Amino acid sequence: MKEFHVAIDGPAGSGKSTISSLVAKRLNWTHIDTGAMYRAVTLWAINNKINLNNEDEYTFLDKIKISYVNDKIYLEGKNVSKDIRSEEVTKNVSLVSSFPYVRKKMVDLQRKATEGINVVMDGRDIGTVVLPNANLKVFLTANVEERAKRRYEENLLKGVNKDIREVIEEIKIRDKKDSTREESPLKKAEDAIVLDTTYLTIEQVVEKIIILIEKKEIEKDGN
Ligand code: C5P
Repeated sequence: MKEFHVAIDGPAGSGKSTISSLVAKRLNWTHIDTGAMYRAVTLWAINNKINLNNEDEYTFLDKIKISYVNDKIYLEGKNVSKDIRSEEVTKNVSLVSSFPYVRKKMVDLQRKATEGINVVMDGRDIGTVVLPNANLKVFLTANVEERAKRRYEENLLKGVNKDIREVIEEIKIRDKKDSTREESPLKKAEDAIVLDTTYLTIEQVVEKIIILIEKKEIEKDGN
């Protein structure tokens, strides 16, 4: 069987990354979290004090090495999986990822990473831009209150007790920036299957996606 590519897109807090990782584990495939890559770029930019608003200053991307291996993200060989989840990175990542230069670099890297392998890739533009020929495209949604509740609970586990109303506002702002930017905005691909996860458990969503993959594999092998 040839390689199989699954594209999973959706707004902040829809469960993309957790679900993609579990689906990939079940199948022994590779998971690539593209949001983690944009976060790593943002972290480098903040740590090195570049002017975040100036697209010309992102040429550092020609020199630095970002890699994603086994659900961990490395920046210049250092595991930064925790650091990329900081408040400061989360606040600035939508700005950083709105620049065409940054997107071009990341999309090239993401496409290369899928060559010849079975992969579950999650992000905002995977089904529309990065992997337009993906074998299966899923668009995950959930209402904003539920998405904020999930973030709030994740925060509590990390020892952060942030007001849920503040979390809702932050998610709304990030969604707006991500879906209204000019360059590859968050958008459902025409051929994507929508899964509303508001009232589903993680396991239920994983199961649904596995069934969709199995169906597509049968169709693919039959052709
Ligand atoms: O998935 P996560 O919420 O960690 O993504 C962080 C940010 O990275 C998003 O809010 C978005 O601005 C950007 N992103 C993107 N395109 C992707 C993945 C993430 O613009 N494919």
